[in-house]
Amino acid sequence: MNPVRKCILSMTGYVPGESADSTKIVKLNQNESRFPPSPRAIKAVEAAASALALYPDSSSRKLREAASSVYGVPAGQVMAGNGSDEILRILFQCCCDPGDEAVAFHPSYTYYSTLAAMQDVRYRLVNFEGEYRIPKHLDLRGAKIVFLPNPNAPTGTVFPESEVRRLIEAVPDGLAVIDEAYADFSGQTSIPLLKEYENVVVVRTFSKSYGLAGLRIGLCFAREGLLEQMEKVRDYYNLDRLAQAGAEAALLDQDWLKLICSRVIASREKLIGQLRELGLTAYDSGANFILVRFGSPERARRVFERLRARSVLVRYFNSRGIDDCIRVTIGTETDMDVFHKELEHIIKEEPAS
Ligand code: PMP
Repeated sequence: MNPVRKCILSMTGYVPGESADSTKIVKLNQNESRFPPSPRAIKAVEAAASALALYPDSSSRKLREAASSVYGVPAGQVMAGNGSDEILRILFQCCCDPGDEAVAFHPSYTYYSTLAAMQDVRYRLVNFEGEYRIPKHLDLRGAKIVFLPNPNAPTGTVFPESEVRRLIEAVPDGLAVIDEAYADFSGQTSIPLLKEYENVVVVRTFSKSYGLAGLRIGLCFAREGLLEQMEKVRDYYNLDRLAQAGAEAALLDQDWLKLICSRVIASREKLIGQLRELGLTAYDSGANFILVRFGSPERARRVFERLRARSVLVRYFNSRGIDDCIRVTIGTETDMDVFHKELEHIIKEEPAS
């Protein structure tokens, strides 16, 4: 007798990017911030540590109120999650019956497919068109959930509001989930569209721009009716005291966020230029990473391994259409200088073809 559900037995678990000691390695493989969080967030976490004997507030009220004031939405339209991944899982558990259909684009964040498999949901991938654009003809009838990261991961593509609207309007029977994990680096958000469309959900994370990946915090913006149902699925103490305090303080320090984002954006644009000077295809990015194409999977893998041997960790995806690419996270200015120098060295050493 095997007690495990069939869909779990047949699925493959998600494999996150490799963890590594970032004091010994230039860690550019998981798109975390390589900058510290706001000093106010660190102070708030330290202060919250004095009350660890007590359960946290089950509704993350102060954090949701801070989000409400920063993003200009009623606090009743905000839910906090233990990372945005938890919010994505709650969405699946709340909205999808086994056999329902979820849709995402390829290439994009692959954890959606893991969550679909857990819930025995059919998962359909729609290919992007050209250089990662939403296809002109979209038929998403019947889909219960459609996911669009904006900016997209791992390509960095930013979809203008007109395209996001076209997508939302093409999902008549379900939710359009706009995953804004990287939106602080593009400056564009779909949160205001909540006022216009009932089927929009916007998901955000504190793991990238806010520098709080280690605390696990995400936010979900949606209409009250949906959030009331999602509340039933959420673990009632899903955010611990430290996470709630740190996230609230980080949100209330928008000057720090702007400073960090402007440094990341400046480094990103500089590196895109440098990569193109090396003769590589570096895609425009609205995120804190760049997708770089090397022309063959062998070359991309070799560069990945050589960088690794030189203590620079980037991400290689063995995935259709991007198996000749690496994705590099934008770290500090020093990190990027090391990455550029090492990559230049590797490319110069390549045998002439
Ligand atoms: N969405 C996208 C597009 C991501 O790249 C990530 C980071 N892996 C997440 C969501 C999850 O972020 P979090 O750390 O908040 O769970």
